[in-house]
Amino acid sequence: MAVRYELIKTCKQTGARLGKLHTPHGTIDTPVFMPVGTQATVKTMSPEELKAMGAGIILSNTYHLFLRPGHEIVREAGGLHGFMNWDRAILTDSGGFQVFSLSNLRKITEEGVSFRSHLNGEKLFIGPEEATHIQNALGADIFMAFDECAPYPAEYDYVQKSMERTTRWAERCLKAHTRPNEQALFGIVQGGMYHDLRAQSARDLVSMDFPGYAIGGLSVGEPFSLMYEVLESTVPLLPTGKPRYLMGVGSPDALIDGAIRGIDMFDCVLPTRIARNGTCMTSQGRLVIRNAKYARDFTPLDPNCDCYTCKNYTRAYIRHLVKSEETFGIRLTTYHNLHFLVKLMENVRQAIAEDRLQDFRDQFFAQYGLGEDRSF
Ligand SMILES: [Zn+2]
Repeated sequence: MAVRYELIKTCKQTGARLGKLHTPHGTIDTPVFMPVGTQATVKTMSPEELKAMGAGIILSNTYHLFLRPGHEIVREAGGLHGFMNWDRAILTDSGGFQVFSLSNLRKITEEGVSFRSHLNGEKLFIGPEEATHIQNALGADIFMAFDECAPYPAEYDYVQKSMERTTRWAERCLKAHTRPNEQALFGIVQGGMYHDLRAQSARDLVSMDFPGYAIGGLSVGEPFSLMYEVLESTVPLLPTGKPRYLMGVGSPDALIDGAIRGIDMFDCVLPTRIARNGTCMTSQGRLVIRNAKYARDFTPLDPNCDCYTCKNYTRAYIRHLVKSEETFGIRLTTYHNLHFLVKLMENVRQAIAEDRLQDFRDQFFAQYGLGEDRSF
């Protein structure tokens, strides 16, 4: 088996899990946040910088790489690891989410999804076999079953049909997978906000014995409280010996509260996307560096942060760069935001190890509301 999860301990205060994910490209301590490199690059960051901040696994998007440069070129380059010169672990998503959110004129059938490329309008088709074939060529350590992520809100009947089809697609992905010793295929639990559908999806996927399970279809516009309710009913149905991955979640508060609910892996474009507008994650909440009050602020973005950006540059300078649309400005904010989440998860793991994650959460939230805003 390509990937193996080792449960080290659970936090006595919260039930959060401390673990290790053994992959062909290194062992990752969990819970972990995975930076997103959509186009086989985490925007503006070099692999060396990602390593320096402690990132052990990054995510890349199948849909984008399928359209450009094409998975066969990536295969010829030695897979994503060789292509982008990253020798640590990689996870690819199935392309399903992007096919539904980015492409035009989609038509879903039992076979798969016909769509037009958002780049040039070309007519294309991806089904479970194609998604698996493409991801086998990309060669990530972990890849995802092709799924439909139902929108929120959605009617029960629609979500049920979509979830059941996603389960049948997962079975076809397993059959089409040609590299099980090198790449781990994770199943994705769907079922919207309906607890019984989530339970059915989890049961059916667990019976197929995937090496790991993702929870998809959350963080799609529903309130956090509803997401946590779904996690609380779904996570206990997943096997304790396998990793659990909550897709598309990356705000600092949700990482802590997700870990408390038994999640081991997270990914989100949030830290990198907001960095490009000059919005920073800090221990006191959101900081919008463009604001005039930082024009003469010669302190770091976050006085509690020891990242490259905060050790070397001031708010005033970063504000100037971002307002002048200098690339170096968004490199600095991106570095800081990613480092902030990587460090946050290090602290979460330390707190689990010492059975004090609830205390850590209380301290974190006491400070986190002090800044401009705690939401992103
Ligand atoms: Zn920093």
